[in-house]
Amino acid sequence: MPSRKITIKEIEAKHALGISGMKELDYAFNPYLGCFHGCLYCYAIDLSNKEISSNWGNTVYVRMNVLDLLKKEIHTYKRGIVGVSSITDPYHAIEGKYKITGNAVDFLASNGFYVTVQTKSPLALRDMGIFIKHRKNVDIGYTITTLNSEISKKIEPYAPLPETRLRAIKKFSSNGINSWIFMGPIIKNINDNLDNIEKIIKFASDNNIRVIYDFFKDYSGPRKYMDNTGYLVSDSSWSAYIERNIKKIADMYGVKCVSEYDEWKYEFGLRQKTLF
Ligand code: SF4
Repeated sequence: MPSRKITIKEIEAKHALGISGMKELDYAFNPYLGCFHGCLYCYAIDLSNKEISSNWGNTVYVRMNVLDLLKKEIHTYKRGIVGVSSITDPYHAIEGKYKITGNAVDFLASNGFYVTVQTKSPLALRDMGIFIKHRKNVDIGYTITTLNSEISKKIEPYAPLPETRLRAIKKFSSNGINSWIFMGPIIKNINDNLDNIEKIIKFASDNNIRVIYDFFKDYSGPRKYMDNTGYLVSDSSWSAYIERNIKKIADMYGVKCVSEYDEWKYEFGLRQKTLF
């Protein structure tokens, strides 16, 4: 892991929940701005201020009052699906100290919201009791871009290694928590090897885990960081080829595997059935 100097800034937030830019979610809850995992492909680079985006992975703001705000504002929000989180990893290392995420998941699920958590960190295991308590109202996804540690270190320099993530999600799934793997972003010439994709899907099949996949989008923020990795910009014939193979492999292993767009339709159905 490359050495680095990190900056943590404690700030006051104005609101607890944001309206999510992702169609499958109603709200986003972000305890932090910036992310110490520092993935080079992260779209949040483009959504962050200059201090955070120009030093991506090394500067994080902690939204200190966000739990108090959540408690104060909860009655103003119509019940819906909350993504935790959309522009940070809710369980990157400093969550060990600040403990915002677990409390927020507990509070939101106790108040009739459906909470969907996405992380790369085994620190989420600390809150297993909360996930078990709200089993019907929460799910958890681990991002697995590759099972190759060297590739992971190159594009996700400070994130927990893939094997650690697999061990963590396996524990969630074996505790009966609705678990999914986000297999992505799939990046041309980096992690689009079909053997790698098959191994991830096989793991999902062995552990009763759903898979959601998506492709890298060449936004200007990540592009600056990805430049030296040898990645190629996605094109439609490449993504159609990869997608055909993902579906074939998922069928072979009997895994429920959908694109991020199809996931929206799934969450929409869930919302219709359980929330209103
Ligand atoms: S863990 Fe997620 S939020 Fe954090 S840098 Fe990586 S992709 Fe971005």
